[in-house]
Amino acid sequence: MKLPGLLLVISGPSGTGKGTVCRALVEKHPSIVYSVSATTRPPRTGEVDGVNYFFLGEEEFLQKVKEGGFVEWAKVYGNYYGTPKDALLANLAAGKDVILEIDIQGAMQVKEKFPKGVFIFIMPPSLKELQKRICTRGTDSAEVIAKRMNSAAGEMKSYSNYDYIVVNERVGEAVAAIEAIIFAEKHRASRY
Ligand code: 5GP
Repeated sequence: MKLPGLLLVISGPSGTGKGTVCRALVEKHPSIVYSVSATTRPPRTGEVDGVNYFFLGEEEFLQKVKEGGFVEWAKVYGNYYGTPKDALLANLAAGKDVILEIDIQGAMQVKEKFPKGVFIFIMPPSLKELQKRICTRGTDSAEVIAKRMNSAAGEMKSYSNYDYIVVNERVGEAVAAIEAIIFAEKHRASRY
C-alpha cells in the first residue's frame, strides 16, 4: 500500500533557524518538495530567483493575488509573501510530500483549506538565544532586526494553533524530530 503524501506547514519566529532546519530536511530527503514562495522582499546576497523565492514587484504580486494564484498570502515585516497555488496542487495530486515554510498568518489560511495538513511550530531554545541569532545573521539592517525582534515575543504565543512543537537547539535533533512526525503522520489511520 502506498503511503499518502503529506502537506507539512512549518512556522516559527524569525531567527529560530527554521530555514536551516527545512533545508537540512530536504537535503536529506530529496523526495520532499520545498514549496518556493513568491515575495516582494528584495533578494539577500546569495539568494536565487526561482530557488529561494520568486522575487516579484508589488504590482505583479498583487495581480497574482487578484487572479487567485496563491493558496495563501500575507504581509510579513512590510513585504508580501505567498504560496503559489498551481505548483502546490500539482505536487499534492502527484502524492508528494510538500513543505511550506510560511508565517503564522499564512499557516492559518492553509489550515482552513487543508485541514489534514501537518502544522509544526519551530521554537528557539529561548528569547535571548533568538535575539542572538537574529543579530548575528548579518543579512538584515538594524531596522529589520528591530522589527523582527518586536514580533518574535508575540509570535511565540501562537504555538497552540499548531499540531507539533519542535525546539531547535541543534539542527540535527530538530530534523530528527520532524522525521519522526512525518513517520507517525504517514501511518495515521484517518489518512487512509
Ligand atoms: P524571510 O524574509 O526571512 O525569508 O521570511 C520572512 C517570513 O516570511 C518568515 O517567517 C517566512 O516563514 C515567511 N514566509 C516565507 N514565505 C512565505 C509565504 O509564502 N507565505 C507566508 N505567509 N509567509 C512566508
